[in-house]
Amino acid sequence: MGGGPVLVWKGDGAVEERTERKPMRIAVLIKQVPDSDDVRMDPETGTMVREGVGAIVNPLDLNALQAALDLKNDAPGGAEVTVITMGPPKAHEALRECISMGADGGVLLSDRAFAGSDTWATARALAKAVEKTGPYDLVLAGEKATDGETGQVGPEVAVLLDLPFTTYVVRMELADGTATVRRMVEEGVHIQRLPLPCMITVLHALNEPSMPTLAGKKRARRIDIPVLGASDLSMAPEETGLRGSATRVVRISYPTVSRKADMYDEKSLDQGIERLVELLRDQAVI
Ligand SMILES: Cc1cc2nc3c(=O)[nH]c(=O)nc-3n(C[C@H](O)[C@H](O)[C@H](O)COP(=O)(O)OP(=O)(O)OC[C@H]3O[C@@H](n4cnc5c(N)ncnc54)[C@H](O)[C@@H]3O)c2cc1C
Repeated sequence: MGGGPVLVWKGDGAVEERTERKPMRIAVLIKQVPDSDDVRMDPETGTMVREGVGAIVNPLDLNALQAALDLKNDAPGGAEVTVITMGPPKAHEALRECISMGADGGVLLSDRAFAGSDTWATARALAKAVEKTGPYDLVLAGEKATDGETGQVGPEVAVLLDLPFTTYVVRMELADGTATVRRMVEEGVHIQRLPLPCMITVLHALNEPSMPTLAGKKRARRIDIPVLGASDLSMAPEETGLRGSATRVVRISYPTVSRKADMYDEKSLDQGIERLVELLRDQAVI
C-alpha cells in the first residue's frame, strides 16, 4: 500500500491544508445484485439463482463510490478511482455504470473457478485484486449487499490485506494521512481515527450518489475493462470457488408464516378493542 496523502477533506466540499498534490488512489469494491427482493436459492446446490433477474449495482456501493468521487473532486491532488467487482461477465455493466458516474477505471474478476465462492473466498479474490492493481491509499465498500447481506466481505478483505478497517461509516474526513470517521452504532455515534491506508465500509447516510453523466456514459462505453481470472491472481484451485469456501449450505428451508387475523369494522369496534385488550393482558403487555 502507498503512503498516506497529506490532505483534509471535509466531505461537504471544503478542503484544508494543501501540502501535497499527489492524487490518492482509491479502490471501491462494488457488487452487482439482483434488481429485486425476489432472490431465489437453488435447493440442489444451495446457491443463488441469478438467471432471469435484472441486475443493479448494490445501492450502498454507490455511496462508497460517491465518497471516492467526492475525494476526487475535493482533494488537493485529486484521486484516481478504480472500481473492482467479482462476478459473471455481465458484471461488466455494473463497472461501466460506475465509470459513467465518474470512476476512472474498473477491474472485473471473472472465472469459472470463482463459482460457488462464499464470502471468505470472495474476499480472498478481491484482496488479491486490490494487491495486484494497487497500491491504494483507501479501499471502500458498502456495508452489505442486498442479496447475500452478510456484511462480511469488506472486513474480510481488510483482514486479508492487514489493513486497519472500520464499518457503519456515515461521515469521513481525511487529513495528514489519517481518516477520521463517524460510525452509526446502536448506542449512538462512534468517532474513530485510522491511519491510511485503510478500509472503510459505508452506510447510506454518508452521501447522495450522483447520476451518470452523458460524457461519463460515452467514456464508459469506450473504456477497456481488464478481466482477471484465478491464475492472474496467482490463486490455486483450492483457494477459490466452492473448494476454497469453508461454508457449506447444508439445507435451505423457508419459514412458514401462520398469521391469522380477526377483522373488526366500525360496527364491531368496541368488541375489537375488548379483544385487543384481552390479548395484551394475556401476553402480560399491559
Ligand atoms: C457456501 C456458499 C456458496 C455460495 N455460492 C455462490 C455462488 O455459486 N454464486 C454466487 O453468486 N454467490 C454465491 N454465494 C454468495 C457469495 O458468497 C456472496 O455473493 C459474496 O460472498 C458476497 O457476500 P454478501 O453478498 O453477503 O456481501 P456483503 O459482505 O454483504 O457485502 C459487503 C460489501 O462487500 C463488497 N462485495 C461483496 N461481494 C462483492 C463482489 N462479489 N465483488 C465486489 N465487491 C463485493 C461490496 O462493497 C458490498 O457492499 C455463496 C455463499 C456461500 C456461503
